[in-house]
Amino acid sequence: MKTTYHDSCHCGAVRYAAALDLSEGVRRCNCSYCAKTRYAKAFTGDDELTILAGKEMLADYRGPDSVWPEDHIHHRFCTRCGVQVFSRGYLENFGGWFYAVNTATLDDASDEELAAAPIIYENGREDRQEEAPAVTSYL
Ligand SMILES: [Zn+2]
Repeated sequence: MKTTYHDSCHCGAVRYAAALDLSEGVRRCNCSYCAKTRYAKAFTGDDELTILAGKEMLADYRGPDSVWPEDHIHHRFCTRCGVQVFSRGYLENFGGWFYAVNTATLDDASDEELAAAPIIYENGREDRQEEAPAVTSYL
């Protein structure tokens, strides 16, 4: 069951709400982007995230490998404090547009809720997101 969490960047300029089911897992991946940002993401639908404040503060970054439509991801982060709040992506095998929410930005998720979420490891570096990489302990 999805719960609506209220979320923000570090400086508070960007605030948003996202409906997530943390029991579906928090994903940690070894791809070039997730590894550099230590991204811990949870997926939700394109109509399940609402920006409440600071839309004009959001940068929109697409990596060099982001190509339409196979791997089309917009990483959004606060231009004041640098915290990545979420990414919006389009993948055909996900049924179109979706959000990947940075679970580190959930303000009203308890430590217990975050700790109970199963961690799903993805081998994004080798484009095999459905498999865990050989080494996961550093992710
Ligand atoms: Zn900020």
